[in-house]
Amino acid sequence: MPSVTAQRMSARDLWRDGLTGNARRVAEALRSRGGHTRAELITATGLSRPTVSATLAELARDGLVVEGTRGAGALGGRPAAVARLTRGAGLAVGVDIGRRHVQVALADLGHQVLAERGRRLETDAEECPSLVLDEAAAMIRDALEDLAAGADAVVGAGLGIPAPITIDGGIGSPNLLPAWAPLAPAEELADRAGMPVWVDNDANLGALGEYLWGSGRGCGVLVYIKLATGIGSGILLDGRLFRGSIGTAGEIGHITMDARGPVCRCGNRGCVELTVGGRALLEQARLTHPDLNSLADLVRRAEAGDPGCRRLLADAGTALGIALGGLVNLLNPERIVLGGDLGPAAFMIEPLRRGLADTGMPAAVGAVEVVPTELGQRAAALGGVALVLKATEHAASHFAAVP
Ligand SMILES: [Zn+2]
Repeated sequence: MPSVTAQRMSARDLWRDGLTGNARRVAEALRSRGGHTRAELITATGLSRPTVSATLAELARDGLVVEGTRGAGALGGRPAAVARLTRGAGLAVGVDIGRRHVQVALADLGHQVLAERGRRLETDAEECPSLVLDEAAAMIRDALEDLAAGADAVVGAGLGIPAPITIDGGIGSPNLLPAWAPLAPAEELADRAGMPVWVDNDANLGALGEYLWGSGRGCGVLVYIKLATGIGSGILLDGRLFRGSIGTAGEIGHITMDARGPVCRCGNRGCVELTVGGRALLEQARLTHPDLNSLADLVRRAEAGDPGCRRLLADAGTALGIALGGLVNLLNPERIVLGGDLGPAAFMIEPLRRGLADTGMPAAVGAVEVVPTELGQRAAALGGVALVLKATEHAASHFAAVP
């Protein structure tokens, strides 16, 4: 790759056809895994030490890589030199659309988050997809302007939607998000923002975000549970998203707890979401607290010691634990991260563990850590960034090119 060409190309063109051969292998390893020492790059790429060194020198000449250090070396030895991609190698965008919010994050391909934006929505995103997608595109433009960058510096955006997303990018269960059902969300955002877009379920992105930057850091078998209006989960097996055969894996909110229970919006009876979902919890809480206005409010009051709010969340924790026992038996996860509006409610964790103990095998239950989210509402937008960074590993996600 001649350096003159690299310097003239936009980051997007660079990744499309400018990076080839060993330069591409090394750059892809750095994009996917962040800062790497030479020894780690040799393992990741299978290239020899002299080839890795020569390739890093070539990429550094083109302004695509810098080498710094990562803390003190083991046992007080010399700190290791770590190579990472620079802003010149491109930017990655993450977008999370929830019922009442849009969250945007921007990072360089060296895994450094450069900007984040969040906005509450006046209207319900479920009912007006067009407006919300316009809003998301405007927020991306704003954040790029602050970084004095154009859309062609962005190699891709990862978009999270609160519904199951099939591998061809459609809404997997139209009843769950009716106004969005006829749309192809990735194409819609690619069109508005002028950049390639990968789309995925928001809980899948939450899992990726926590894996890269939050409570799930470095944890290969990870389950992220999004506890909000709906309940979803993202499953990472050996560090990779598990999507199932058509892409809808992880719909833990629609596992049946009571086959004769009330009918759920998915069409089945007695789903987990009807007991533990935000709608159900708010409905119950308002019987005694009519002025309660959100799940965050419910968590705040419980934390302040309100016995009714505390009991509701504790019971929700137990019910969720009972529902998760089967998943723990099947997957034997290392860690479960609780995210979404109820994620920070740490006092749900003990009741949840009691529920788990009732339905999970002792060995698997004993092995799993249950922890609250570290990223909170930022998890899925940062996971969108992670999806772009790890695009070569997660190729099954639906992708829309720039129109
Ligand atoms: Zn359901």
